[in-house]
Amino acid sequence: MSEETIFSKIIRREIPADIVYEDELVTAFRDISHQAPTHVLIIPNKLIPTVNDVTTEDELVLGRLFTVAKKIAKAEGINESGYRLIMNCKDDAGQEVYHIHMHLVGGRKLGRMLAPEVV
Ligand code: AMP
Repeated sequence: MSEETIFSKIIRREIPADIVYEDELVTAFRDISHQAPTHVLIIPNKLIPTVNDVTTEDELVLGRLFTVAKKIAKAEGINESGYRLIMNCKDDAGQEVYHIHMHLVGGRKLGRMLAPEVV
């Protein structure tokens, strides 16, 4: 049994969050420490700790992350200017919360995907 994180509490409304979308499979809320004018986290309602824990049974919910990302990008008015979708997996990627989440960031020029000195 995987350990719950703060994101499970957000899904259950036990702690506050600026929720912008929810359905039976996913929930989306604004990142508390936003790094761009739009920075939304889209998460499965089911706890999946990391991408390494994904199974074929999760394919529907994982696809939903993308269709919801597209809807939110349009609602935020950044679908034409562009945006970035990021999912970090474990330590080297800097994953802090072990409940998988897609970062949707946009609303400004985002620059290079990785710091240039990191090779
Ligand atoms: P990651 O580094 O990919 O695991 O990203 C975790 C993200 O969760 C970070 O960008 C945090 O700012 C964000 N975060 C952590 N706690 C909260 C919270 N209570 N509400 C909204 N965002 C949060």
